[in-house]
Amino acid sequence: MLSVEQARERILDAVRPLPAETADLNEALGRFTAEPLRAAVDLPPADNSAMDGYAVRAADLASASADAPVALRVIGTAPAGVVLDKVVERGTCARVFTGSALPRGADAVVMQEDVKQNSQDPSSVLFAESAPPWDNVRLRGEDVKAGALLLEAGERLTAPRLSFLAAAGISAMRAARRPVAGLLATGDELREPGRPLEAGAIYESNRIGLAALARQAGAIPKVYPLVRDELAATKAALEQALAECDVVISTGGVSVGEMDWVKAAFAAIGGQIDFWTVAMRPGKPFAFGRWKEKLFFGLPGNPVSALVSFLLLARPALLRLQGAREVLPRTISAILTEPLVNHAERRHFMRVTLDGRGGARSAGSQSSHILSAMARADGLVDVPPKTTLAVGAHISVLTVD
Ligand code: AMP
Ligand code: MG
Repeated sequence: MLSVEQARERILDAVRPLPAETADLNEALGRFTAEPLRAAVDLPPADNSAMDGYAVRAADLASASADAPVALRVIGTAPAGVVLDKVVERGTCARVFTGSALPRGADAVVMQEDVKQNSQDPSSVLFAESAPPWDNVRLRGEDVKAGALLLEAGERLTAPRLSFLAAAGISAMRAARRPVAGLLATGDELREPGRPLEAGAIYESNRIGLAALARQAGAIPKVYPLVRDELAATKAALEQALAECDVVISTGGVSVGEMDWVKAAFAAIGGQIDFWTVAMRPGKPFAFGRWKEKLFFGLPGNPVSALVSFLLLARPALLRLQGAREVLPRTISAILTEPLVNHAERRHFMRVTLDGRGGARSAGSQSSHILSAMARADGLVDVPPKTTLAVGAHISVLTVD
Protein backbone atom coordinates (compact mmCIF):
# COMPACT_ATOMS: atom_id res chain seq x y z
CA MET A 1 0.00 0.00 0.00
CA LEU A 2 1.33 3.46 -0.89
CA SER A 3 2.09 6.03 1.78
CA VAL A 4 0.37 9.40 1.51
CA GLU A 5 3.60 10.91 0.20
CA GLN A 6 4.07 8.18 -2.43
CA ALA A 7 0.45 8.50 -3.52
CA ARG A 8 0.75 12.27 -3.81
CA GLU A 9 3.93 11.97 -5.83
CA ARG A 10 2.29 9.52 -8.24
CA ILE A 11 -0.63 11.91 -8.62
CA LEU A 12 1.50 15.02 -9.13
CA ASP A 13 3.62 13.17 -11.69
CA ALA A 14 0.48 12.67 -13.73
CA VAL A 15 -0.50 16.35 -13.74
CA ARG A 16 0.22 18.55 -16.75
CA PRO A 17 -0.49 22.22 -15.94
CA LEU A 18 -3.37 23.71 -17.93
CA PRO A 19 -2.64 26.43 -20.49
CA ALA A 20 -2.67 30.04 -19.32
CA GLU A 21 -5.18 32.65 -20.42
CA THR A 22 -5.54 36.38 -19.93
CA ALA A 23 -7.39 37.18 -16.72
CA ASP A 24 -8.75 40.55 -15.69
CA LEU A 25 -7.85 41.57 -12.14
CA ASN A 26 -11.58 41.50 -11.33
CA GLU A 27 -11.84 37.79 -11.98
CA ALA A 28 -8.44 36.74 -10.68
CA LEU A 29 -9.17 36.10 -7.00
CA GLY A 30 -7.91 32.65 -5.98
CA ARG A 31 -6.17 32.02 -9.31
CA PHE A 32 -2.45 31.60 -9.93
CA THR A 33 -0.07 33.82 -11.85
CA ALA A 34 1.33 32.11 -14.94
CA GLU A 35 4.26 34.50 -15.29
CA PRO A 36 6.27 36.83 -13.05
CA LEU A 37 4.54 40.22 -12.68
CA ARG A 38 6.52 43.46 -12.58
CA ALA A 39 5.46 46.96 -11.52
CA ALA A 40 4.35 49.16 -14.42
CA VAL A 41 4.92 52.35 -12.40
CA ASP A 42 6.73 53.53 -9.28
CA LEU A 43 4.56 53.09 -6.21
CA PRO A 44 3.82 55.74 -5.08
CA PRO A 45 4.16 57.27 -8.55
CA ALA A 46 5.29 60.62 -7.06
CA ASP A 47 6.37 62.16 -3.76
CA ASN A 48 3.16 63.03 -1.92
CA SER A 49 1.82 64.23 1.40
CA ALA A 50 1.00 61.79 4.21
CA MET A 51 -1.08 64.43 6.05
CA ASP A 52 -3.52 67.27 5.67
CA GLY A 53 -1.27 70.29 6.29
CA TYR A 54 1.29 72.57 4.67
CA ALA A 55 4.14 71.70 2.33
CA VAL A 56 7.28 73.59 3.39
CA ARG A 57 11.02 73.83 2.91
CA ALA A 58 12.37 72.25 6.11
CA ALA A 59 15.29 74.71 6.17
CA ASP A 60 12.83 77.60 6.52
CA LEU A 61 11.63 76.22 9.86
CA ALA A 62 15.08 75.50 11.36
CA SER A 63 14.73 78.32 13.87
CA ALA A 64 11.00 77.93 14.60
CA SER A 65 9.97 77.69 18.28
CA ALA A 66 6.94 78.43 20.42
CA ASP A 67 8.53 81.76 21.49
CA ALA A 68 9.62 82.68 17.97
CA PRO A 69 7.23 81.10 15.44
CA VAL A 70 8.09 81.38 11.76
CA ALA A 71 5.52 82.83 9.33
CA LEU A 72 5.40 81.40 5.79
CA ARG A 73 3.29 82.89 3.01
CA VAL A 74 0.74 80.46 1.50
CA ILE A 75 1.21 80.44 -2.28
CA GLY A 76 -1.68 78.13 -3.16
CA THR A 77 -3.64 74.94 -2.53
CA ALA A 78 -2.95 71.51 -4.03
CA PRO A 79 -5.95 69.19 -3.57
CA ALA A 80 -5.26 65.45 -4.02
CA GLY A 81 -4.98 64.74 -7.76
CA VAL A 82 -3.78 68.26 -8.64
CA VAL A 83 -0.14 69.24 -9.24
CA LEU A 84 0.41 72.81 -8.05
CA ASP A 85 1.79 74.96 -10.87
CA LYS A 86 3.85 77.08 -8.46
CA VAL A 87 7.16 76.43 -6.71
CA VAL A 88 7.51 76.62 -2.92
CA GLU A 89 10.36 79.08 -2.57
CA ARG A 90 12.13 80.43 0.50
CA GLY A 91 9.63 81.91 2.96
CA THR A 92 6.57 80.26 1.39
CA CYS A 93 4.45 77.16 1.84
CA ALA A 94 1.48 75.48 0.11
CA ARG A 95 -1.75 74.01 1.46
CA VAL A 96 -1.82 70.22 0.86
CA PHE A 97 -3.99 67.23 1.78
CA THR A 98 -3.30 63.53 2.30
CA GLY A 99 -2.25 62.17 -1.09
CA SER A 100 -1.56 65.59 -2.70
CA ALA A 101 1.50 65.57 -4.93
CA LEU A 102 4.28 67.36 -3.07
CA PRO A 103 4.63 70.82 -4.66
CA ARG A 104 7.98 71.50 -6.29
CA GLY A 105 10.49 73.12 -3.92
CA ALA A 106 8.93 71.64 -0.78
CA ASP A 107 10.70 68.85 1.13
CA ALA A 108 8.45 68.34 4.19
CA VAL A 109 4.84 68.55 5.29
CA VAL A 110 3.70 69.96 8.65
CA MET A 111 0.35 68.61 9.76
CA GLN A 112 -2.37 71.19 10.07
CA GLU A 113 -2.86 70.57 13.81
CA ASP A 114 0.67 72.02 14.33
CA VAL A 115 0.06 75.16 12.27
CA LYS A 116 -1.58 78.40 13.53
CA GLN A 117 -3.38 81.01 11.53
CA ASN A 118 -1.57 84.34 11.52
CA SER A 119 -3.92 87.06 12.89
CA GLN A 120 -1.50 89.77 11.72
CA ASP A 121 -1.40 88.49 8.11
CA PRO A 122 -4.12 86.12 6.79
CA SER A 123 -2.01 85.31 3.72
CA SER A 124 0.53 83.48 5.88
CA VAL A 125 0.50 80.79 8.60
CA LEU A 126 2.67 80.29 11.70
CA PHE A 127 4.94 77.34 12.54
CA ALA A 128 6.08 76.90 16.16
CA GLU A 129 8.35 73.87 15.55
CA SER A 130 11.03 72.84 13.10
CA ALA A 131 10.44 69.85 10.81
CA PRO A 132 13.04 67.32 9.65
CA PRO A 133 13.46 67.09 5.86
CA TRP A 134 10.99 64.63 4.26
CA ASP A 135 8.80 64.62 7.38
CA ASN A 136 5.28 63.44 6.45
CA VAL A 137 6.31 62.88 2.83
CA ARG A 138 5.72 59.53 1.12
CA LEU A 139 8.54 59.09 -1.34
CA ARG A 140 8.13 58.12 -4.95
CA GLY A 141 8.87 54.40 -5.39
CA GLU A 142 9.30 53.72 -1.66
CA ASP A 143 6.79 50.84 -1.82
CA VAL A 144 8.07 49.40 -5.12
CA LYS A 145 10.04 50.76 -8.05
CA ALA A 146 8.83 50.51 -11.64
CA GLY A 147 10.04 47.21 -13.08
CA ALA A 148 10.38 45.51 -9.68
CA LEU A 149 9.11 41.96 -9.27
CA LEU A 150 5.63 42.00 -7.68
CA LEU A 151 4.79 38.28 -7.77
CA GLU A 152 6.56 35.20 -9.06
CA ALA A 153 4.82 32.77 -11.41
CA GLY A 154 2.64 30.26 -9.56
CA GLU A 155 1.61 32.57 -6.72
CA ARG A 156 -1.99 32.64 -5.53
CA LEU A 157 -3.88 35.85 -6.13
CA THR A 158 -5.17 36.82 -2.70
CA ALA A 159 -7.19 39.95 -1.94
CA PRO A 160 -4.19 42.02 -0.73
CA ARG A 161 -2.18 40.90 -3.76
CA LEU A 162 -4.93 42.09 -6.10
CA SER A 163 -4.81 45.54 -4.47
CA PHE A 164 -1.01 45.51 -4.72
CA LEU A 165 -1.10 44.67 -8.44
CA ALA A 166 -3.75 47.31 -9.17
CA ALA A 167 -1.71 49.99 -7.37
CA ALA A 168 1.39 49.04 -9.35
CA GLY A 169 -0.44 49.48 -12.65
CA ILE A 170 -1.44 45.89 -13.49
CA SER A 171 -5.01 45.45 -14.77
CA ALA A 172 -4.77 42.02 -16.40
CA MET A 173 -2.35 39.12 -16.35
CA ARG A 174 -1.72 35.61 -17.59
CA ALA A 175 -3.19 33.03 -15.25
CA ALA A 176 -3.65 29.30 -15.64
CA ARG A 177 -7.12 28.28 -16.79
CA ARG A 178 -9.28 27.16 -13.88
CA PRO A 179 -9.74 23.38 -13.93
CA VAL A 180 -13.33 22.15 -14.07
CA ALA A 181 -13.81 19.56 -11.32
CA GLY A 182 -16.79 17.23 -11.76
CA LEU A 183 -18.30 15.89 -8.54
CA LEU A 184 -20.18 12.61 -8.35
CA ALA A 185 -21.69 10.86 -5.34
CA THR A 186 -22.54 7.18 -5.55
CA GLY A 187 -24.92 5.33 -3.24
CA ASP A 188 -28.50 4.05 -3.40
CA GLU A 189 -29.08 5.39 0.12
CA LEU A 190 -28.29 9.00 -0.82
CA ARG A 191 -30.95 11.70 -1.12
CA GLU A 192 -30.68 15.35 -2.09
CA PRO A 193 -30.78 17.65 0.97
CA GLY A 194 -34.06 19.55 1.26
CA ARG A 195 -36.31 16.56 0.50
CA PRO A 196 -38.04 14.29 3.01
CA LEU A 197 -35.92 11.36 4.17
CA GLU A 198 -37.47 7.89 4.02
CA ALA A 199 -36.31 4.96 6.16
CA GLY A 200 -32.85 3.72 5.21
CA ALA A 201 -31.88 6.90 3.38
CA ILE A 202 -29.39 9.64 4.32
CA TYR A 203 -28.75 13.12 3.01
CA GLU A 204 -25.93 13.38 0.51
CA SER A 205 -23.27 15.68 1.94
CA ASN A 206 -20.02 15.06 0.08
CA ARG A 207 -20.57 16.95 -3.16
CA ILE A 208 -21.34 20.26 -1.45
CA GLY A 209 -18.25 20.19 0.78
CA LEU A 210 -15.97 18.97 -1.97
CA ALA A 211 -17.33 21.58 -4.38
CA ALA A 212 -16.50 24.25 -1.80
CA LEU A 213 -12.99 22.88 -1.28
CA ALA A 214 -12.47 22.65 -5.04
CA ARG A 215 -13.59 26.27 -5.41
CA GLN A 216 -11.21 27.35 -2.63
CA ALA A 217 -8.44 25.58 -4.55
CA GLY A 218 -9.21 27.70 -7.63
CA ALA A 219 -11.20 25.09 -9.56
CA ILE A 220 -14.69 25.41 -11.02
CA PRO A 221 -16.87 22.72 -9.45
CA LYS A 222 -19.51 20.99 -11.54
CA VAL A 223 -21.97 18.96 -9.49
CA TYR A 224 -23.57 15.92 -11.14
CA PRO A 225 -26.75 14.07 -10.14
CA LEU A 226 -26.61 11.22 -7.64
CA VAL A 227 -25.37 7.91 -9.02
CA ARG A 228 -27.10 4.58 -8.25
CA ASP A 229 -25.05 1.57 -7.11
CA GLU A 230 -25.20 -0.14 -10.50
CA LEU A 231 -22.43 -0.79 -13.00
CA ALA A 232 -24.28 0.72 -15.98
CA ALA A 233 -25.31 3.88 -14.11
CA THR A 234 -21.81 4.35 -12.71
CA LYS A 235 -20.21 3.89 -16.14
CA ALA A 236 -22.57 6.40 -17.76
CA ALA A 237 -22.07 8.99 -15.02
CA LEU A 238 -18.27 8.67 -15.05
CA GLU A 239 -18.07 8.81 -18.83
CA GLN A 240 -20.19 11.95 -19.06
CA ALA A 241 -18.29 13.73 -16.29
CA LEU A 242 -14.87 12.75 -17.66
CA ALA A 243 -15.85 14.03 -21.10
CA GLU A 244 -17.01 17.37 -19.67
CA CYS A 245 -14.41 18.09 -16.96
CA ASP A 246 -10.64 18.24 -16.43
CA VAL A 247 -10.83 16.29 -13.20
CA VAL A 248 -13.55 13.98 -11.88
CA ILE A 249 -13.97 13.28 -8.18
CA SER A 250 -16.41 10.62 -7.06
CA THR A 251 -17.28 9.52 -3.56
CA GLY A 252 -18.35 6.10 -2.31
CA GLY A 253 -18.38 2.76 -4.02
CA VAL A 254 -14.61 2.45 -4.09
CA SER A 255 -14.20 -0.13 -1.33
CA VAL A 256 -14.46 -3.92 -1.44
CA GLY A 257 -18.23 -4.50 -1.14
CA GLU A 258 -20.11 -6.12 -4.01
CA MET A 259 -22.02 -2.83 -4.47
CA ASP A 260 -18.79 -0.88 -4.99
CA TRP A 261 -18.85 -0.33 -8.75
CA VAL A 262 -16.58 2.66 -9.20
CA LYS A 263 -13.30 0.95 -10.10
CA ALA A 264 -14.95 -1.58 -12.38
CA ALA A 265 -16.96 1.14 -14.12
CA PHE A 266 -13.90 3.34 -14.57
CA ALA A 267 -11.94 0.44 -16.09
CA ALA A 268 -14.90 -0.54 -18.30
CA ILE A 269 -14.98 2.91 -19.96
CA GLY A 270 -11.25 2.75 -20.70
CA GLY A 271 -9.84 4.37 -17.55
CA GLN A 272 -6.45 3.30 -16.22
CA ILE A 273 -6.36 2.87 -12.44
CA ASP A 274 -2.91 4.05 -11.35
CA PHE A 275 -3.28 2.91 -7.73
CA TRP A 276 -5.88 1.94 -5.17
CA THR A 277 -5.73 2.29 -1.36
CA VAL A 278 -3.45 4.56 0.63
CA ALA A 279 -1.96 3.83 4.06
CA MET A 280 -3.92 6.44 5.95
CA ARG A 281 -6.89 6.93 8.24
CA PRO A 282 -9.39 8.15 7.32
CA GLY A 283 -9.41 7.51 3.60
CA LYS A 284 -7.76 4.15 2.91
CA PRO A 285 -10.05 3.18 0.01
CA PHE A 286 -8.95 5.74 -2.55
CA ALA A 287 -8.47 5.24 -6.27
CA PHE A 288 -6.50 7.41 -8.65
CA GLY A 289 -6.59 6.94 -12.35
CA ARG A 290 -6.39 8.53 -15.77
CA TRP A 291 -8.88 8.59 -18.60
CA LYS A 292 -7.33 10.11 -21.72
CA GLU A 293 -5.69 13.30 -20.35
CA LYS A 294 -8.25 13.61 -17.54
CA LEU A 295 -7.61 12.81 -13.88
CA PHE A 296 -9.92 10.66 -11.80
CA PHE A 297 -10.12 10.54 -7.99
CA GLY A 298 -12.33 7.88 -6.43
CA LEU A 299 -12.73 9.01 -2.82
CA PRO A 300 -14.30 6.95 -0.04
CA GLY A 301 -17.91 7.66 0.81
CA ASN A 302 -17.58 8.35 4.52
CA PRO A 303 -17.91 12.11 4.77
CA VAL A 304 -14.78 12.75 6.85
CA SER A 305 -12.72 10.37 4.71
CA ALA A 306 -13.88 12.14 1.56
CA LEU A 307 -12.90 15.59 2.83
CA VAL A 308 -9.57 14.49 4.32
CA SER A 309 -8.48 12.51 1.27
CA PHE A 310 -9.46 15.42 -0.95
CA LEU A 311 -7.27 17.79 1.10
CA LEU A 312 -4.26 15.48 1.16
CA LEU A 313 -4.43 14.00 -2.35
CA ALA A 314 -6.84 15.74 -4.74
CA ARG A 315 -6.29 19.37 -3.78
CA PRO A 316 -2.56 19.25 -4.61
CA ALA A 317 -3.47 18.05 -8.11
CA LEU A 318 -6.00 20.86 -8.63
CA LEU A 319 -3.35 23.36 -7.54
CA ARG A 320 -0.62 21.85 -9.70
CA LEU A 321 -2.97 21.95 -12.71
CA GLN A 322 -2.98 25.72 -12.20
CA GLY A 323 0.80 25.91 -11.94
CA ALA A 324 0.81 26.64 -8.20
CA ARG A 325 4.24 26.71 -6.55
CA GLU A 326 2.90 25.51 -3.21
CA VAL A 327 0.48 22.57 -3.31
CA LEU A 328 0.59 21.23 0.24
CA PRO A 329 -1.74 22.43 2.99
CA ARG A 330 -0.40 25.30 5.07
CA THR A 331 0.82 24.18 8.51
CA ILE A 332 0.51 25.88 11.88
CA SER A 333 2.70 24.93 14.86
CA ALA A 334 0.82 24.16 18.05
CA ILE A 335 1.20 22.45 21.41
CA LEU A 336 -1.16 19.64 22.39
CA THR A 337 -3.36 20.41 25.37
CA GLU A 338 -4.75 16.86 25.53
CA PRO A 339 -3.25 13.58 24.29
CA LEU A 340 -3.93 12.20 20.80
CA VAL A 341 -3.95 8.41 20.70
CA ASN A 342 -3.65 6.32 17.54
CA HIS A 343 -4.08 2.60 18.31
CA ALA A 344 -4.18 1.66 14.64
CA GLU A 345 -1.53 0.25 12.31
CA ARG A 346 -2.06 3.15 9.91
CA ARG A 347 -1.24 6.85 10.22
CA HIS A 348 -4.25 8.74 11.45
CA PHE A 349 -4.86 12.30 10.30
CA MET A 350 -6.74 13.40 13.40
CA ARG A 351 -9.03 16.39 13.46
CA VAL A 352 -8.05 19.09 15.95
CA THR A 353 -9.21 22.53 16.97
CA LEU A 354 -6.85 25.40 17.77
CA ASP A 355 -7.55 27.43 20.90
CA GLY A 356 -6.09 30.71 19.60
CA ARG A 357 -3.34 30.64 22.26
CA GLY A 358 -1.06 28.19 20.48
CA GLY A 359 -2.78 25.08 21.84
CA ALA A 360 -4.54 22.28 19.95
CA ARG A 361 -6.89 19.53 21.06
CA SER A 362 -9.00 16.80 19.52
CA ALA A 363 -12.04 18.19 17.71
CA GLY A 364 -14.15 15.29 19.04
CA SER A 365 -14.77 11.74 17.87
CA GLN A 366 -12.19 10.65 15.31
CA SER A 367 -14.52 8.22 13.52
CA SER A 368 -14.76 8.78 9.78
CA HIS A 369 -18.53 9.33 9.82
CA ILE A 370 -18.50 12.01 12.56
CA LEU A 371 -19.02 15.28 10.72
CA SER A 372 -19.52 17.36 13.88
CA ALA A 373 -15.83 16.96 14.77
CA MET A 374 -14.79 17.70 11.19
CA ALA A 375 -16.96 20.81 11.22
CA ARG A 376 -15.28 21.93 14.45
CA ALA A 377 -11.76 21.18 13.21
CA ASP A 378 -9.21 23.81 12.23
CA GLY A 379 -6.83 21.21 10.92
CA LEU A 380 -5.37 17.72 10.85
CA VAL A 381 -2.52 16.24 12.83
CA ASP A 382 -0.56 13.37 11.32
CA VAL A 383 -0.35 10.83 14.18
CA PRO A 384 1.97 7.88 13.35
CA PRO A 385 0.76 4.26 13.77
CA LYS A 386 0.55 2.92 17.35
CA THR A 387 1.52 6.28 18.79
CA THR A 388 0.35 8.54 21.58
CA LEU A 389 1.19 12.21 21.29
CA ALA A 390 1.33 13.50 24.86
CA VAL A 391 0.16 16.77 26.36
CA GLY A 392 2.81 19.38 25.59
CA ALA A 393 3.94 17.72 22.34
CA HIS A 394 4.91 20.17 19.61
CA ILE A 395 2.75 19.39 16.60
CA SER A 396 2.25 20.66 13.12
CA VAL A 397 -1.39 21.22 12.15
CA LEU A 398 -2.36 20.93 8.47
CA THR A 399 -5.00 23.60 7.93
CA VAL A 400 -8.26 22.56 6.34
CA ASP A 401 -9.27 25.73 4.48
P1 AMP B 1 -19.10 3.67 0.68
O1 AMP B 1 -17.74 4.25 0.52
O2 AMP B 1 -19.95 3.83 -0.53
O3 AMP B 1 -19.03 2.26 1.17
O4 AMP B 1 -19.81 4.51 1.82
C1 AMP B 1 -19.27 4.53 3.13
C2 AMP B 1 -20.22 5.26 4.07
O5 AMP B 1 -20.32 6.61 3.68
C3 AMP B 1 -21.63 4.73 4.08
O6 AMP B 1 -22.13 4.83 5.40
C4 AMP B 1 -22.37 5.66 3.16
O7 AMP B 1 -23.75 5.73 3.44
C5 AMP B 1 -21.69 6.96 3.45
N1 AMP B 1 -21.71 7.85 2.28
C6 AMP B 1 -21.32 7.49 1.05
N2 AMP B 1 -21.46 8.52 0.20
C7 AMP B 1 -21.97 9.53 0.92
C8 AMP B 1 -22.34 10.86 0.59
N3 AMP B 1 -22.20 11.32 -0.65
N4 AMP B 1 -22.85 11.65 1.56
C9 AMP B 1 -22.98 11.15 2.82
N5 AMP B 1 -22.62 9.93 3.18
C10 AMP B 1 -22.13 9.10 2.25
MG1 MG C 1 -21.76 3.19 -1.14
